[in-house]
Amino acid sequence: MSHLLPILVHTPAHSQLAGPLTYRSELPLTAGTLVRVPLGQRELLGVVWRADAAPANTLDPGKLRPISSVLDGIEPLTPAWQQLVSFAAQYYQRSTGEVALAALPPQLREINTAQLARRLKKHAKVASASQGGGLDPSNATVSIALSAEQTCAIDQFDTQEGPFLLFGATGSGKTEVYLHTAEHLLARDPAAQAMVMVPEINLTPQLEARFQARFGPLYGDGAVVAMHSGMTPAQRLKSWLAAHSGAARIVLGTRMAVFASMPQLKLIIVDEEHDPSYKSHEGARYSARDLAVYRARLDGAKVILGSATPSLESWHHSRPAAEGGRYERLLMPSRIGGDAAALPLVRRVDMNHQPKKCVFSPPLLAAIEQRVARGEQSMVFLNRRGYAPVLHCSDCDWKSECPHCSAYRVFHKIDRTLRCHHCGFAQQVPRACPACGNPDIAPIGRGTERLEEHLAELLRHVRRPNSVSEQWPEGEPVRILRIDADTTKLKGELESQLARVHAGDVDVLVGTQMIAKGHDFRRITLVAAASPDSALFSSDFRAPERLFSLLMQAAGRAGRDAGLSGQSEMWVQTFHPKHPLFEALKRHDYPTFAQTQLKEREQAAMPPFSFQALVRSEARTQEVAQGFLTAASAAVAPLPAFAPLLPHITLYPAVPMSIQRVANVERAQMLIESPSRTALQRFLTEWQAVLHATRQQPEGKGLIRWAIDVDPLAI
Ligand code: ADP
Ligand code: ZN
Ligand code: ZN
Repeated sequence: MSHLLPILVHTPAHSQLAGPLTYRSELPLTAGTLVRVPLGQRELLGVVWRADAAPANTLDPGKLRPISSVLDGIEPLTPAWQQLVSFAAQYYQRSTGEVALAALPPQLREINTAQLARRLKKHAKVASASQGGGLDPSNATVSIALSAEQTCAIDQFDTQEGPFLLFGATGSGKTEVYLHTAEHLLARDPAAQAMVMVPEINLTPQLEARFQARFGPLYGDGAVVAMHSGMTPAQRLKSWLAAHSGAARIVLGTRMAVFASMPQLKLIIVDEEHDPSYKSHEGARYSARDLAVYRARLDGAKVILGSATPSLESWHHSRPAAEGGRYERLLMPSRIGGDAAALPLVRRVDMNHQPKKCVFSPPLLAAIEQRVARGEQSMVFLNRRGYAPVLHCSDCDWKSECPHCSAYRVFHKIDRTLRCHHCGFAQQVPRACPACGNPDIAPIGRGTERLEEHLAELLRHVRRPNSVSEQWPEGEPVRILRIDADTTKLKGELESQLARVHAGDVDVLVGTQMIAKGHDFRRITLVAAASPDSALFSSDFRAPERLFSLLMQAAGRAGRDAGLSGQSEMWVQTFHPKHPLFEALKRHDYPTFAQTQLKEREQAAMPPFSFQALVRSEARTQEVAQGFLTAASAAVAPLPAFAPLLPHITLYPAVPMSIQRVANVERAQMLIESPSRTALQRFLTEWQAVLHATRQQPEGKGLIRWAIDVDPLAI
């Protein structure tokens, strides 16, 4: 007798078919089993799905094809994992097959059964070897005495359910709390697994080293595995198998790790939970932070979100329970090291009173020189890479526009190119204005490359007093290093550049926000934001939140070593020194900043007091892109399914996206808002069908693609 099984596959061409496909099998297979199935001429990886989950696309039973094979040796994915995938697909309005298959390591799709068998054999050998290293408490590294605040946070964690928001200053020892809770859990429960998420790949090596150092000696080197997009497909499969089989006790990764198969998951940690990179911006646009909280509940795991500047959403959720809060707030306001490692003094430089057009105000420059003289490090950041954002002809007003995008190409001096940061189009800088022939075209504004050049010029006469030699009788010149996406393109470059900073081979570090986040620099005593004002007046309502957290993070890079002399400083060059955001920054006062922002959001009915989704569309013309959205929104009014929902929904008009054209594709968007998450969800689910149908109408002609973004981060 043969069984009919619903099976999820990823078939972009059939993506309207949200549910599983039906196949025949001689054996009954548990939901979660991995199989290979034929589809057309191809053979695809599939997951046997729960029969009750969604009506499978049942074709004529006589024509049903049998599954090709079962991936033997891989245990079925757990019901909790299946539920996570179902939820994510539903919430973010994608097909379940797409989400499920994207959550599995890409190599699993490609290798055949024989290759897989070899892999599993190798894997089993490694796993048993690492278990041989077994639990031996005497292997433990000397553990440090926890601070009173750490102890208190851990006690609360142990005795309460959570979810937890660990609100701890930069350098308050949050990582130590993560290590401690994980250590506790793993010692108590010999099968338990923990997941630790970090926002950026370039922060994983540092954290991985800390976790490896702590857990390697206890549970063997295979106990901690990484998961991020910088790994090779083979490495990713290896980590995935280790997590799935339970051999890996700790999975450390970026947002994709939230979908890792971990049958014994008991703890989830989301470090720097406010970071925008937890939100995916392609495929299913999920928030790994939000899914982490959901997943914890499914798996019966505890979850900690940690940050010095929590997202306003999480902060709002952690208000007192009496006011409706759902998260427990754990507080660690003080830095490790007491007064000597106090948070830096924030100094605002009023640029209205500085020499016109100066980039480094005289007092900031003097302060940097002073640090150099003392043998300490400074860090200057500016959120724009390249030499200058625009090249300009003063005769005819030509600007270096990208021919394919509604954006300027950025001037990169190092290879004398004009490069578009949106579509990648690059050309040599013209010798003269391409419009009028004027040879005198000049850069406007500045990026990190120009900032570095300018700073080198300003510090040319400065000598490092403690580096006197025969060649340099008055000391060597100042060593400036720039770190941004341009200097770190090659694998390993970022690590080696950071190593130079850590080793003290750099006096002034210049870079983008890449250097402002997370790194544990020990010798930096001055951090400067060269020009942060633009975010104060951005049309994006989240811009102040992001600026505040970036500046707090940046300030957190200063004075991490209590052993260094004197007070560390954070400098902000601004034309609006009295702005409340900077006032709050000066006091390192996140709660006040958050309260003000939340009040504004509440008055304006913005998230977290309302719920949003965006539908984005792309076409060759703006008219088509907008026309599609307009038609799809007009189509809902007469449909009875929408009648009960529409009173709770605001559909805004279609508008061009802020960067309207990229690579010759016109982009438009439509905002949907509701005070009720449920109403918004129901509306979107119904609207999906309308959007698909509209695409088949004349209004959909010429449309390239459309996608829904639930809880968008940028509008
Ligand atoms: P955060 O993650 O909050 O920025 P970290 O956990 O990185 O802070 O801690 C900052 C520094 O303080 C690290 O070098 C860490 O090793 C050290 N540290 C943390 N907790 C303690 C402690 N209880 N005693 C001594 N040093 C500690
Ligand atoms: Zn010109
Ligand atoms: Zn372009």
